[in-house]
Amino acid sequence: MKCRHCGTPLNHTFLDLGFAPPSNAYLTQADLSKPEKYYPLKIKVCDHCWLVQTEDYAQADELFSPDYAYFSSTSSSWLAHAKAYAEQMTQRLGLNGNSMVIEVASNDGYLLKNFVAAGIPCLGIEPTASTATAAEKLGIPLLQAFFGEALGKTLAAEGKQADLIAGNNVYAHVPDINDFTRGLKAALKPGGTITLEFPHVMRLIEHTQFDTVYHEHFSYLSLYTVSRIFQTAGLRIWDVEELPTHGGSLRIYGCHQADLRPSTDAVEVLLQREAEAGLQTLSPYTSFQARANKVKDDLLDFLIRQKRTGKKVVAYGAAAKGNTLLNYAGVKPDLLPFVCDAAGAKQGKYMPGSHIPIMAPQAIQQAKPDFVLILPWNIADEVMKQNTFIREWGGKFVTSIPELVIQ
Ligand SMILES: [Zn+2]
Repeated sequence: MKCRHCGTPLNHTFLDLGFAPPSNAYLTQADLSKPEKYYPLKIKVCDHCWLVQTEDYAQADELFSPDYAYFSSTSSSWLAHAKAYAEQMTQRLGLNGNSMVIEVASNDGYLLKNFVAAGIPCLGIEPTASTATAAEKLGIPLLQAFFGEALGKTLAAEGKQADLIAGNNVYAHVPDINDFTRGLKAALKPGGTITLEFPHVMRLIEHTQFDTVYHEHFSYLSLYTVSRIFQTAGLRIWDVEELPTHGGSLRIYGCHQADLRPSTDAVEVLLQREAEAGLQTLSPYTSFQARANKVKDDLLDFLIRQKRTGKKVVAYGAAAKGNTLLNYAGVKPDLLPFVCDAAGAKQGKYMPGSHIPIMAPQAIQQAKPDFVLILPWNIADEVMKQNTFIREWGGKFVTSIPELVIQ
């Protein structure tokens, strides 16, 4: 296989998680008596442009099924993040009723509804039918499609170039990152700004966040690599911010290469820090598997010990990252009888691979477990606040990444 950005043959493995079902392929009870499809889950690193990427195995359309269950609006901290973003961009870029905002992968309208409320014209692009329908109900103009160069050129031809193109947590999920970036270039007005948010691979490595690896997540990105990809497409990064979301993300600000805006110092400073962390050398990548294995071993050891001493452990958050962790560790309902999730669309279904049932959060009150394992550690504070009542019977919270912590 060759690098999806620069075409260099990929000779180095970053992480091999064996085989796993797609992380968002939640199962119904009827599905449990059918065969389940597993795909290899192996991540490579390119020793030329340092793009960390999944090994090829399947088509994107097979993974983003029409009943894809993730609705952004179910996380209150994510909604607050989106609102703050809209206010910040409106002010910084001077957006008004004559501007145009395009969001790629607009999900259920969690972000664009803030621009609609402010009277700023916008357009959402979203391939998933169920979330797209939810967005349309909020009055958000919507195009149900995958974004890429062809669509970017169509939008430009229709006079729909944007002053702001937002892509929050889509860039890492794109199979053809070069085509997608050329699409951004085509759909951007002269003088316009692109912002993309994606998990920072430097943080993934630093905090052993191997559970953020799943099939739909094609790329694991550094500022250095994204700068190269932007440059190849005729774009330039003029600012970058570090965000706490998803365990440490970057928000990059892009513009046309010919744009006269100066770059901020933050770009050079972060490129320097990445270089100092060795991200343009092999060692941080090739030493990662052993660290992931330790996290897996510690979690299994904890769960087996609780089972043997008659303690009850349940989990909170049926997120994709939980599926990666549980499937890699081989955890089944005998060690973890159920997972709670606030998203109605997931309740009553089963986690792919592990077949652990998903219940409403109220199930914790009834079960009174000794431990609640929080799978989406990125929203651990929010989950602990919502579930402080477990202290009434002496319950404790557990997170397993970057290391097992009981509190
Ligand atoms: Zn490459």
